[in-house]
Formats: sequence, structure tokens, C-alpha cells
Amino acid sequence: MADDSKSLQTLLTTTDYRPPEGFAAFPTAIHHASTVLFRNVAALRARHWQDKTSYTYGLHGTPTTFTLEARLAEIEGGRHCLLAPSGLAAIAMIDLALLAAGDDLMVPDNVYNPNRELANWLQKDFGITARFYDPLVGEGIAELIRPNTKLIWTEAPGSVSMEVPDIPAICRAAKARGVPVALDNTWAAGLAFRAFDHGVDIVMQALTKYHSGGSDVLMGAVITADQALHRRIEMAHMRLGMGVSADDTYLVLRGLPTMKLRFDAHDAAARKVAAWLKARPEIAKVLHPAFDDCPGHAIWRRDFTGAGGLFSVLFHPQYAEEQTDSFIDSLKLFKIGYSWGGANSLAVPYRMASMRSRWDEAGQLVRLNIGLEDPDDLIADIAQALHSLA
Ligand SMILES: *Cc1c(COP(=O)(O)O)cnc(C)c1O
Repeated sequence: MADDSKSLQTLLTTTDYRPPEGFAAFPTAIHHASTVLFRNVAALRARHWQDKTSYTYGLHGTPTTFTLEARLAEIEGGRHCLLAPSGLAAIAMIDLALLAAGDDLMVPDNVYNPNRELANWLQKDFGITARFYDPLVGEGIAELIRPNTKLIWTEAPGSVSMEVPDIPAICRAAKARGVPVALDNTWAAGLAFRAFDHGVDIVMQALTKYHSGGSDVLMGAVITADQALHRRIEMAHMRLGMGVSADDTYLVLRGLPTMKLRFDAHDAAARKVAAWLKARPEIAKVLHPAFDDCPGHAIWRRDFTGAGGLFSVLFHPQYAEEQTDSFIDSLKLFKIGYSWGGANSLAVPYRMASMRSRWDEAGQLVRLNIGLEDPDDLIADIAQALHSLA
């Protein structure tokens, strides 16, 4: 568990990695290995792949990946961590570890779309039922849980439409029925929402976003506090061959000391841009958890300590998709692209009705990732692009 006597910023800058004697320095060494060598047959027979004080084969991890795992577990407030080659791979590893034919899976209707795609595949081809629930269901989830429900996914907030779920209420209901709750905690980066304190059993992170911060690495992580749960997911990690690159791991380690400074800068800039947008006549709603237009805003105020750089806006329904598309095309500083958490601002339109079982808003939704540019320049860019709506 995290050392509660240290602040997050100190944890992010501190490493337990021990370089070889006589070669002390701050960076973690990049250990490349597929084959690992043993002194003799007895040493080979004695070593176990789950023991992280030594290694047996590069696929199960190296000192580089074990160092990142230990640091992520500590930062997130858990005990165990497993790395995966992407955020989506981490999601798949959790599903495959905990679900079997005949089981039931519950996923919020606003979930990251590839998670939904996977759930639908599990339902179609693997004999698992996948049900999508209202992310604002809160305590009401108790009535939806079935005797064969084996996993409840949550995402806080949904990373496109931004509803903030009542995670403590969902976890209480799930715990009463013995069902583990997994949280996609990417939006808050493990910094602005302390998942284990709120009752979550499994945290998933797309390290691709804030942890990397460079828009250049794909990686995911699964963090747990419970040893038995960790062992089950570790079996899936091994059976699926979820190895990650040592060089990519190094890049993520290199980003950690600045992660909170970056996150806080994204947060301040995003709130400034969102406040400006909220006063604009073209915008119907600012879907940013720190603003009262956003469903679940009161829960965000209760449970979160920050917001990062990702939010969405809904244009007034009078603007057709061609007009909001031309708004995005007219942006100069904002680039058009998926993903987020990097230094550059991004804009992406989403066709919400095709992504949801239920979507009641009429206007076009555009998601913004606020990067590390000066927010006044970003506001000027949006102001000039809004002329294209006329
Ligand atoms: C990006 C993202 C993922 C998946 O991460 P990848 O590394 O791109 O596979 C999962 N959840 C959320 C909320 C994301 O934004």
C-alpha cells in the first residue's frame, strides 16, 4: 500500500530501484531479455515465474518492468500491479481472468467504446452475458446484479460523455453480493481519484495517456490490493503472453516525476478553456466534471481532488454535424486525433447515438484534450474557429 506519510508528488519522484553495486544513478536500467540464464539446473528448477525478486523468462517481466509495476501499485494506493501492452489489453486481461462461459458482466453504458466492443464479443462468441447499465444508477445497481454476475466495470467519468458515477455506492452494492468492481481510472490518472479508498477492487490505467505524457507510448496496467485477485489476473497475464517493451517501460518511468505537475497544468488550463466555452452562445453544455452542466458534478466534488485536461462540449442543436465538423477543421493549434494526456491539444467529434443504448442529447458532441499550450492561445484558436459555424 502507498506510504501515507509521503505526498503523491514525493512518491512520483522516489524509486526503490537498486542499480548494480558501484553504479548508482537515478534512472532504472533498461533490461532487455527473452532468455534468462541460470547458474545450474538446480537454480532453474528452484526459480518460480511469479517470484519478482528474480526472473525466469523475459515475457513474465524484467527488473525494468517490475520496477514500474511496484511504483504504480504504490502511486495508486494498491499492492500489486501487472503491465499490459496497451490500456485495452489490460481491460481484456481483467475480463478473461474473471469471466467464464455462463457468467454475467456489467458495463456502464458510457464506457470507453473498445471495452464495450469486447463485452459484446464475449457475449456473442463466449457464452457470457454482457449488460450495459446507466452510469448514474448509483445504489440502484443492487437490483441489477444477478447471481451469476462476476464482474462490474466502472469508468470515472465516462471518457467521452463525462458522467461521474457514484463509485462508493456501486462498490457497496457489489461488495454485498461478492462481485468485484473494476475501474478504468485513466481520466484521473490515479492522482485525482483514490480508487482503493472508495472501495474499488481492480484499477485499470491506460499508461498511454498521462503516465507516458509523450503521445508516443502504448501501455496499460492493472492494479489490485487483494492478493487472491492479483493471482487470478496474473494467471491471465501469463497465459495471454502480456509482455511489454523494456524501452517503452523506461519512457513511462521517465514520465512519472513530472506526471502530477503536468496533470495539474492540464487541469488549470482545461478549466480556463471550459469556463470560456460555457459563456459562449454556440455551446449548450460543458461536459466537464468540475462544471454544473455535467451529470454527476456533485459526486465529482465529493470524491475527486482534480480533473486533468479532458472534457467535452455539446453544441446547440441548431448546428448540424457539417458545421461542427468545419469548426474542428478550422482549429489550428488543436489537432484532430484520438487519445489524450499528451502536450498537444486535440479535438474529436463523436456520434453519440451510435455508441450508446440510450442518448437523449440533440446537439453535436466534441471532445477536447487540453494540452500544455498557453490556454489563452487555445481560447483564441477556438474563438477564430467558431466563426466557421456562421
Ligand atoms: C485510451 C484509453 C484506454 C485504452 O488505452 P490504449 O493504451 O489506447 O489501449 C482505455 N480507457 C480509456 C478511458 C482511455 O482513454
